[in-house]
Amino acid sequence: MKITRISVYQVDLPLEKPYWLSGGRLKFEKLDSTIVSIETDEGITGWGEGCPWGVTYLPAFAGGIRAGIVELAPAMLGHDPRHIDQINHIMDIALPGHLYVKSALDMACWDILGKSANLPLYALLGGRYSSHVTLQNSVSTGTPEEMVAIVQAGRAKGYTIHTAKIGADVSLDIERIHALLADLKTGESITFDVNRAWLPDQAIMVMNTINDARPYFEEPCETLEESRTVRRLTRQPIILDECIQSFGDLLLAQREQVAQGIGLKVGRVGGLTKAKRMRDFCIATGIRMNIEETGASQIGDTATIHLAIATPETHRHASWDCSALHSVITADGGYIREGGKATLPDSPGLGIEARMEVLGEPVAVYS
Ligand code: MG
Repeated sequence: MKITRISVYQVDLPLEKPYWLSGGRLKFEKLDSTIVSIETDEGITGWGEGCPWGVTYLPAFAGGIRAGIVELAPAMLGHDPRHIDQINHIMDIALPGHLYVKSALDMACWDILGKSANLPLYALLGGRYSSHVTLQNSVSTGTPEEMVAIVQAGRAKGYTIHTAKIGADVSLDIERIHALLADLKTGESITFDVNRAWLPDQAIMVMNTINDARPYFEEPCETLEESRTVRRLTRQPIILDECIQSFGDLLLAQREQVAQGIGLKVGRVGGLTKAKRMRDFCIATGIRMNIEETGASQIGDTATIHLAIATPETHRHASWDCSALHSVITADGGYIREGGKATLPDSPGLGIEARMEVLGEPVAVYS
């Protein structure tokens, strides 16, 4: 089997409500998604998606994906897309680094592998460990009352794992945390995601003021080194997210014992192939994971739910599905959100059918 054509589509994903992160420091209203199809000489087509969370969240932007594909696509033509490690090797030689640029292409190759083997992706990624994946109720930064209201609305829909965005204003953060912990019910879990907004002194102050070891604190500071300082002087479990961009970052975080959990964002780390390697390392070393996308429509979210369901429940926390924040449907099929849970069909590959009327004409074609 050989890759004969790679087509690139651009789709805007406007969020239904503006989303605030990092204590209001970062605002997001629309995402820019890149969807790719890879066609083969055997008539099988695979689909993939890469969608950074705006331009301010990470050193990644949508235009960077499409610019990177200009370099990657010609190198992939003529190769067998089912030989996925080899395809990743080819991409890493053609364009070293730039991990997020490669995820959509890698995902489309996995889709082809699944379709050619007549197996759902999760079967190729480790097998189905559970009937569903637990989803996160994502709580945008606001006043303590507004944030409690979002948690309660999520609870009413069936969510049990909440992620509340805080950061920037230390005294208001303490109020937010107290209000949300007072509202937390038995059997629920809450993470306070700071998205890098605190300096270590602020993290230490807030986390030690909160005399409660139940919550996770996520990405308290800008760097791994700063988070290491926080780890030494606090007691709540820490999840690292933005600063885990590669296997090397994960290795360092594990060796330095900084994090008890990570956000394994498939797009950020370079695709399903590289995410799977990191997932396996986390299983081997006892690190819990939120397996999810950086941003996505139905296509990218479905890929991450496949990886999550193929991961032992003992090592999973919850997955965030970006599609819940917008109403653009780029594909039929794929994962189904019901309350706070995601389920998957058993159809081969990703199990999606792209909606060509939503994708429109390709912005680039390589053949
Ligand atoms: Mg996070």
